[in-house]
Amino acid sequence: AHKLQVQGLYKAYGQTLALDRVDLHVAAGEFVTLLGPSGSGKSTLLQLICGLTPPSGGKLLIDGRDQTFAPPAQRDIGVVFQNYALFPHLSVGENVAFPLRIRKVDRAAMARRTEAALEMVGLHGYAARMPAELSGGQQQRVALARCLVYRPSLILMDESFSALDRNLRLVMQDEVRRIHRETGTSFVFVTHDQEEAMTMSDRICLMNQGRIEQFDTPRALYATP
Ligand code: ADP
Ligand code: ADP
Repeated sequence: AHKLQVQGLYKAYGQTLALDRVDLHVAAGEFVTLLGPSGSGKSTLLQLICGLTPPSGGKLLIDGRDQTFAPPAQRDIGVVFQNYALFPHLSVGENVAFPLRIRKVDRAAMARRTEAALEMVGLHGYAARMPAELSGGQQQRVALARCLVYRPSLILMDESFSALDRNLRLVMQDEVRRIHRETGTSFVFVTHDQEEAMTMSDRICLMNQGRIEQFDTPRALYATP
């Protein structure tokens, strides 16, 4: 069964066809990376998947259900943006608990799951800190914990590590791969860094000018003849 099925999805901005009839299937537990140059439609595709923008046409199924026009909160999807987007006036713990609060999860479960999510990203004991006290890498981890905490079946990451220096980027890559293994969550990860795509992904989706040009394993795509 496919977790995510994108069928003939397209998006026009005036004369610009940002996404040109894209088909993409992501299996349960699969790690798929969208790789392509700036302007190739990667962010547009992510925005359509999480519901931040409505498509001009085509269809989107999540766990077999048509979610093409479902509001973001009704989709079982977590998103980690490049700029973290943490609430600056809330503590780390309150940031991570936020998705559970809006889902009205009871206090005891909220505390337990918040601590478990912080632990999963290596931030045990950081609940009382404020985001501004943390490094960029730590803030990125909080953003990841905030999406893990409600156990989405799909996590989207948009250029999430591009603001980090190289060493920290490698650490975060390892960490996300471990979390992928441990939780079995499907990932759609966006990057313009080929090396990052190759080390992270089960399959890579090569995008150009709003289209998917190739979709295959790193090995198949970059095998030397
Ligand atoms: P990528 O993420 O690969 O850099 P985008 O999805 O951001 O690509 O952009 C794909 C195309 O759509 C580009 O030509 C971009 O200029 C255009 N585009 C994206 N968002 C908008 C928007 N809100 N309004 C107009 N054009 C847009
Ligand atoms: P609950 O409060 O829902 O009964 P717990 O918080 O006790 O559940 O967590 C049960 C287990 O699920 C813990 O071992 C925890 O590490 C794990 N867990 C937490 N978040 C996730 C997740 N996103 N995906 C899979 N397992 C998770």
